[in-house]
Amino acid sequence: MLPRWRYLTPHVFEATRGCIHTCDFCVVPSAWGRRPLQKPPKVIVEDLKRMRTRKAIFVDLNLIADRHYARRLFTALKPLGIQWYGLATTLLADDLPLLDLAAESGCRGLLMGLESISPVSLRASRKGFNRPEDYATVVERLHERRIALQGCFVFGLDQDEPDVFEKTARFAVEAGIDLPRFAIVTPFPGTPLFRRLAREGRLLHRNWEQYDGQHVVFRPARMSVEELQQGTEAAWKQAYSWSGIARRLRRTAAPWHVAALTNLGYRRYAHNLHRFYTCDWLFDAPSPWRLLHREPAGNPPASEEKA
Ligand code: SF4
Repeated sequence: MLPRWRYLTPHVFEATRGCIHTCDFCVVPSAWGRRPLQKPPKVIVEDLKRMRTRKAIFVDLNLIADRHYARRLFTALKPLGIQWYGLATTLLADDLPLLDLAAESGCRGLLMGLESISPVSLRASRKGFNRPEDYATVVERLHERRIALQGCFVFGLDQDEPDVFEKTARFAVEAGIDLPRFAIVTPFPGTPLFRRLAREGRLLHRNWEQYDGQHVVFRPARMSVEELQQGTEAAWKQAYSWSGIARRLRRTAAPWHVAALTNLGYRRYAHNLHRFYTCDWLFDAPSPWRLLHREPAGNPPASEEKA
C-alpha cells in the first residue's frame, strides 16, 4: 500500500506488549497492563528467516521490560547476523551485559524516552528511573557499541518553565544524541495524566485528532498554550540548526552518510512542522510512481490510496 522506498525496512516486528513501569502519560500500562505479553523468541527467529531480511524494526515500546526475556530474544537473534532497531529504556545502559548482548545481536539504533532533563519532572511523571545526570553516559555507552540513539523529550510537564525549550535542545546537542525528538506532552485517554488534568479542569477540548503529541490540548501549568506550542518548534529548530547538526554528527554512532541524511530529513521536518502535523503529506508528496505515471499530486494512483 505504501511506497517501499520511503522506509528503512518493511520488516516490522512486535515481540512483546505491556510494560512493567507506570509512567503517568503512557498508554502502554493502561492498554496492555504491567505484565508483558511475549512471543517466544524462536517464533520471531522463524519469522525473520521466512522474510529473508537483513534489517528489522521492533516496535515494542520497551523491549527490555522483562530483562530475562530480552536476554533470550537477543541470544536467539545473534546467529542471524541481522541489524535491528527498537525501543528501550535508559535502564539498558545500566545493565552492561545486556547492552553488550543487544549490540552483539545486531542492535544498531534505539529510541529512548528521555522525556525531561529535570529529575523533579521525571519523578512527578513516575519516570524517576531516568536520571538526566547520566544521559551523557547513556549516549557514550551506546556509541561505544555502535548503537545510535533517537532521544525523545516531552514539553509541557507541570514543572516546565519557558526556558525549558532552549535548555533541553542545548542539552541534546551537547550530549551528542544522534537524533533528538521533541513532543508536547499529551494526556491520552485512560492514562493517569488524562484523569488528573480532567479533574483539574485543564483539558482544552476532546478533539482526539489533536491528541497527537504535536498540539497543545491542555492548559500548561507555568506557561501559556502559545509558549508551549512555539517553544517546542523552537527546540526542533535549535537542535537541527546547522551548528547543532555539525556538533552531533561529529560524535554519531551511525554510518556517516545515514546520520547526515537523517539529520537533513529531520531539519526539513523541524522547519515544516505545520505541514507535518497530519500524515496527509505522506500521500500528497511526489513519488517515483506518480512521476512515472504523471499523476497529479492530489489524485493518487489506486496503489497509494488510503485504506
Ligand atoms: S513510557 Fe516507556 S517505560 Fe514508561 S510505561 Fe511507557 S513503555 Fe514503559
